[in-house]
Amino acid sequence: MFAATVARAPEADAIRYFDGRMTSAQLDEASDALAVALLGHGFSAGDRLVLFTQNNPAYVIGMLAAWKAGGIAVSANPMYKERELGHLLRDSGATAVLCLDELYPVVSALGIRTVITFSGLDGQTRDDPRVFPSPQRLVIPDALDLGDLLNAFAGLEPPPASPAPDDPAFLVYTSGTTGDPKGAVLTHRNFVFNARSYREWMQLEPGDTILGLAPLFHITGLVGHGVLALLLPAPLVLAHRFEPSVMVDAVREHRPVFSVGAITAYAAMAGVPGAGRDDFRSLTKIWSGGAPIAPAVGDQLGEKIGGYIHNAYGLTETSSITHLVPPGRRAPVDPASGALSIGVPIASVRSRIVGEDGKELPPGEVGEVLISGPQVATGYWQRPDATEASFPGGELHTGDVGFMDEAGWFYLVDRKKDMIIASGYKVWPREVEDVLYGHPAVREAAVIGVPDAYRGETVHAFVSLQPGAEVGAEELIAFCKERMAAYKYPRAVFFVDELPKTASGKILRRELR
Ligand code: AMP
Repeated sequence: MFAATVARAPEADAIRYFDGRMTSAQLDEASDALAVALLGHGFSAGDRLVLFTQNNPAYVIGMLAAWKAGGIAVSANPMYKERELGHLLRDSGATAVLCLDELYPVVSALGIRTVITFSGLDGQTRDDPRVFPSPQRLVIPDALDLGDLLNAFAGLEPPPASPAPDDPAFLVYTSGTTGDPKGAVLTHRNFVFNARSYREWMQLEPGDTILGLAPLFHITGLVGHGVLALLLPAPLVLAHRFEPSVMVDAVREHRPVFSVGAITAYAAMAGVPGAGRDDFRSLTKIWSGGAPIAPAVGDQLGEKIGGYIHNAYGLTETSSITHLVPPGRRAPVDPASGALSIGVPIASVRSRIVGEDGKELPPGEVGEVLISGPQVATGYWQRPDATEASFPGGELHTGDVGFMDEAGWFYLVDRKKDMIIASGYKVWPREVEDVLYGHPAVREAAVIGVPDAYRGETVHAFVSLQPGAEVGAEELIAFCKERMAAYKYPRAVFFVDELPKTASGKILRRELR
């Protein structure tokens, strides 16, 4: 797919990274050189390359290079601390990591054979304090430097790798419905199919500049920005990290047409002082995904931005979108629950609602949302039991609870899974609780999501203490903050003598809520 794009539009911009740009041909050459470098450092067919960075051209170079070297790319959230990244590296069995220089300390002690670093400053406006408060290049003697490798291997091509459609392209870590992080195995077929769905269902044209609002390490950014841009082809505007005023500047400068991202990201951009409808005029095709949209918030934001924010639904396990509000349509609101429809299943997606007994339910009845189709992952990396539990017969059990109306619109009304969605990021109570249990003063811990006007939901913890132990909320919050990505740690801790439980001892989160 990418080879066809390079042949068709070699000089077209593939990536715009503030004051830097890269054409399709340059992206092709850079990923060739990195593939040759990887092969020269012992990387071989089927090996895993972890991409550990914020949004950066290196991410796209890295994923293409992994495929050209016959391997599999793995995405890692750059907010991960050593505990979280260590799990991902062990579980994926990765032998190589491509990482942003400032994240090197998180990787260094984890015993990875090949570590390649690069500077986040490349191509970025260097004196922009909103992005880099104290810009400096780091010199890391123990790692390979991406720029050096690209120079050393420039002009070389790796032997042709021809992945079969059902070979894995990416492992994207997700907690699925249980809270235990696993790599969803997404194939080349899954990706191409889903990127085509974006193109066709959102009526995108070649050259429709894409605003890279979502992180590339998350499935929405990976497929809805990264893979889609290679397919259309279209320039992809990337920013080092999501800083609302920088994003608004990017919209003013690059006039993107399309974006998909969390509703909180649009809200943050609309809230930038001085930003108005004129600034956003080019953005005519806008989708929000990954988290519910409160109908009133969606309308207010649409008013500010001067466009309609369409709802999109999907999961990591489905290579992102499966249900969409089609262009030119407005999502209906369910009068009973007040939920905004997530849209209709896109072409080739089969989606049905089933009850507790596994039987399909008629329109209007509430049950679990099931999905099958060509963008559904083949399962979880080396986890046959978890795969069988979540994908019985190849059909994904989403853990989302909802219904379909008579006209075929789908609505979500609840979740079977305990997941919390804070600013579009998924937080698993069990993981936060496990860390809290690691504190010597804690006897019991339970974590819940509470509604939050800005973040959608925010993380709160309830703890009971060991007899005689004393600890303050601030200390427990700091304890968590040190051990997990910033979006996960509890924003408030409440102390109780005893957590509410069922007769069998299961903590009653509903009561805490
Ligand atoms: P992830 O694998 O991180 O993409 O998370 C997928 C989950 O996000 C789904 O199972 C839903 O619970 C939630 N989700 C995704 N899109 C939407 C949406 N448009 N509205 C409500 N929840 C959503």
